[in-house]
Amino acid sequence: QRQVIYAKRPHGTPTLDCFRIATVPLDTPSEGQVLVRNDVLSVDPYIRMRMEEKDSYAPVMAIGDVFVGRTVGQVVQSRAPGFATGDWVVGRLGWQDFSVAAPADLQKIDLAAAPATAYLGALGSTGITAWVGLMEFGRPQRGETVLVSAASGAVGSVVGQIAKLHGCRAVGVAGGAAKCALVREAYGFDECVDYKAPDFAAALARAVPNGVDVYFDNVGGPILDTVLPLLNNFSRIPVCGLVSQYNATEPYGVKNLREIFNRRVTMRGFVLSDHKALWPEATRALAEAYAAGRLHYRETIAEGLENAPQAFIDMLAGANVGKQLVRLRPD
Ligand code: NDP
Repeated sequence: QRQVIYAKRPHGTPTLDCFRIATVPLDTPSEGQVLVRNDVLSVDPYIRMRMEEKDSYAPVMAIGDVFVGRTVGQVVQSRAPGFATGDWVVGRLGWQDFSVAAPADLQKIDLAAAPATAYLGALGSTGITAWVGLMEFGRPQRGETVLVSAASGAVGSVVGQIAKLHGCRAVGVAGGAAKCALVREAYGFDECVDYKAPDFAAALARAVPNGVDVYFDNVGGPILDTVLPLLNNFSRIPVCGLVSQYNATEPYGVKNLREIFNRRVTMRGFVLSDHKALWPEATRALAEAYAAGRLHYRETIAEGLENAPQAFIDMLAGANVGKQLVRLRPD
C-alpha cells in the first residue's frame, strides 16, 4: 500500500520535497482491530503546524511519519466486535491507502443521511469546530453581527450559516470576487468582503454598519488588525486558527490590540479536542440543519494519493473552494 511520508521540514511555504510517497506491505489487524480501506482523505491547515519545530497545541510530526489526517473509508476486514466488512467509518487514519485501527479510533457513518465526504466536512469535525467556536465562545444573540474570515472555506462557511440560523447578520471575508459571490449566494451570508481588494478596510466598515459583535477568526494577521477597530463593546473573538500565519517566516505584529482593552473584548483561542462534551450537541444540530436543507457545503476534490501534497500546498494558498479533500480511488 502507498503512504504519504513526512520527508523534510519546510521553511515558509512547503515544497513537494517535504513529502515522499512510500510503498509498504499491508498491515494485518490483530484481535480487536479492523482494516480500513481509505476512500477520501481530508486536507487541513492544522497539518502545517505539525510540520513545525515551533511550539504548537498539536504534536509535531517526526521526519518519516505518515501524514496525519482524517479519512473516510470502508472496513475490509474486521476482528473487532461491532464492526463488519463493508461498514463505512471516519477516523484520523492518516494519508495512506489502508489503515489498521481500533474501534475507539473509529466512528461509523450513515451514508443514507449524507454522502461520505460530508463527514469530513460540514457534518464532521469541520462543522463541529464551527459550531463549538461560534456557540460556546462567540455566544451570538439574535440581531447581532457575526463576522467570519476564510468565509468561503470549510469552517467559515458553516459559521455563517449557523449564525443565520440563530437570527444574526452574517458577514464574511474571503479572497476574491468569485469566492465572495459564493459566500453570499450558496451559503446565504448577508455580505462578503474581498480582503484582496484595495478598498478592503472601507468596504468592511460599510458591510458592518452596526459594528461587529462576534469575530470568528480563522486567519489572524492583517485582517485581524482591520477588524479590531470595528468591534463593539463587549464583543467576542473566538480564535479558531491563524491560517495567514502558518507559512510565515516572520511573526506578524498586531497593531490594534489596544481595541481589545478599549472595547472590553473577550478573545478566546479554542481547540476542538478540548471540548468533546459539546460534540454530540454540535453533531445533532448540524445533522438537523443539513436534513432541513439549511446547511450547504462545497468541496474541492483532488484525485489520487500522490496529489495530496500539492492539494495541501494549494489549499494553504486559497486554491480550494470549500472543504479540500483527496479521493484515493475512483468511485
Ligand atoms: P479552509 O477551507 O478555510 O481553507 C483555508 C483558507 O484560508 C483558504 O481557502 C484561503 O481562503 C484562506 N487563507 C489562506 N491564506 C490566507 C491569508 N493570508 N489571509 C486570509 N485568508 C487566507 O480551511 P479550514 O476551514 O479547514 O480551516 C479554517 C481555519 O480553522 C484554519 O485556521 C484552521 O487551522 C482552523 N481550524 C481550527 C480548529 C480548532 O480546533 N481550533 C479545527 C479545524 C480547523 P481565501 O481564498 O479566502 O484566502
